[in-house]
Amino acid sequence: MRRHRHAKIVATVGPASNTPERLKALFLAGVDTFRLNFSHGTHDDHAKVHAAIRALEQETGRPIGILQDLQGPKIRIGTLRGDRLDLATGDRIRFVREGREGGPDAIPLPHPEIFAAVAPGQELLIDDGRVRVRVAGVDDDAIDADVVVGGPISNRKGVNLPGTVLALSPLTEKDRRDLAFGLDLGVDWVALSFVQTPSDVMEARGLIAGRAGLIAKIEKPSALEHIDDIIRIADGVMVARGDLGVELPPEDVPGRQKELVRACRRAVKPVIVATQMLETMVTAPAPTRAEASDVATAVYDGADAVMLSAESAAGRYPVEAVAMMDRIIRRTEQHRLYRSLVRASEPEVEDSPPHAVAAAAAGLADAIEAAAIVAFTASGTTAARIARKRPNVPILAATFDPAVSRRLSLYWGAHSVLGPEIESYEAMVARAAEVAEQEGFAQPPDLVVAVAGIPFGQPGTTNNLRVVELGRKASGV
Ligand code: PGA
Ligand code: MN
Repeated sequence: MRRHRHAKIVATVGPASNTPERLKALFLAGVDTFRLNFSHGTHDDHAKVHAAIRALEQETGRPIGILQDLQGPKIRIGTLRGDRLDLATGDRIRFVREGREGGPDAIPLPHPEIFAAVAPGQELLIDDGRVRVRVAGVDDDAIDADVVVGGPISNRKGVNLPGTVLALSPLTEKDRRDLAFGLDLGVDWVALSFVQTPSDVMEARGLIAGRAGLIAKIEKPSALEHIDDIIRIADGVMVARGDLGVELPPEDVPGRQKELVRACRRAVKPVIVATQMLETMVTAPAPTRAEASDVATAVYDGADAVMLSAESAAGRYPVEAVAMMDRIIRRTEQHRLYRSLVRASEPEVEDSPPHAVAAAAAGLADAIEAAAIVAFTASGTTAARIARKRPNVPILAATFDPAVSRRLSLYWGAHSVLGPEIESYEAMVARAAEVAEQEGFAQPPDLVVAVAGIPFGQPGTTNNLRVVELGRKASGV
């Protein structure tokens, strides 16, 4: 079973999609990696979904990625005395530390760190930025603020502080428990929410200890200030436009998306463009023209993956949303301008041998019109380096490690195939022809390009290229 596109689809699982039947329908419609959102649901719910996805892998024989998304330190107001409050533009309001008196209209803020971190002039955004207030004065127990954009607020609404770096670990107590649980289950990726600094990523990396790939969710302006270090330390990035678009003016988000996609391509790290991609399909069977264009733009930018959130988790049309995303990606990749646009955003590549060999493989495969590139990869990096060139030719990533084969389901263009560990050059040539044919990518007398690092099984040594003609005996090796 193969997909006829390069960019991957991530779909969030929720009440609209968490049964084995629904998960299968979503997979068949095009999902490559499922996202378990630990902002919602119990451990038991997530364990059931995890088991259903692993059973689906068995049934279909295809590796499927599972991404655990940790809630992170999402800041919320507490419980209001009358459960809601109408804030009018120009009002002076008061936030108080949980449990402190502050009058009937005081807004409890159960996050003591905020009182130490904010300064007059900074803004607090409530309920996805619908209500904005500006800090006028602050002490240990209270923040006085003026309402800049008014509106109703109610219990537990989210608060964003775009201009403030908070002394908060991106891993709350709940996140630490969830992470231990997810790693025990065997998730392939862990996404870290509200990353602010490179040391946030280091801390999570230490806890994960190589048991899963680590995705840094970029949703704070402070993360953008250290973006190169964050990308270097993480294994991948999510352009988390939901919160990022609250913390930044909306007009800044598209440019940031382009920068992040390009920086990840340069660093050979997968990048997911996320949130509201087909938002209308939460309630309607078709997207808006602007949404279709948004998915296409991410594909033209060269993103590894695009993501569905509420559309697949809680919407009325989860399978239709996946099928729509699949169609938009395929149509975009087939468009006559796609190659020139994706090439135009190709980053400068350092000229170390592994990178040059991978680039040469992509160029060679395009030049001889090979049916596929077969990358023998112990860690996934050989396949990822080839994918960075965004070649026109499918990339088969042959690996013996099930964890690597699942992680590759997030990488642009990689069709992963699990198989035995390769130990000799002859075995590599024979296996390249075999997988290309078995997986339906080539038939005699097609050519495939085999790429490997020799000695085999040593990560990071992409140093060998071979053109293999299908149907020809591998004599004279
Ligand atoms: P979330 O993250 O859905 O967990 O909030 C993605 C985003 O903010 O875009
Ligand atoms: Mn978010």
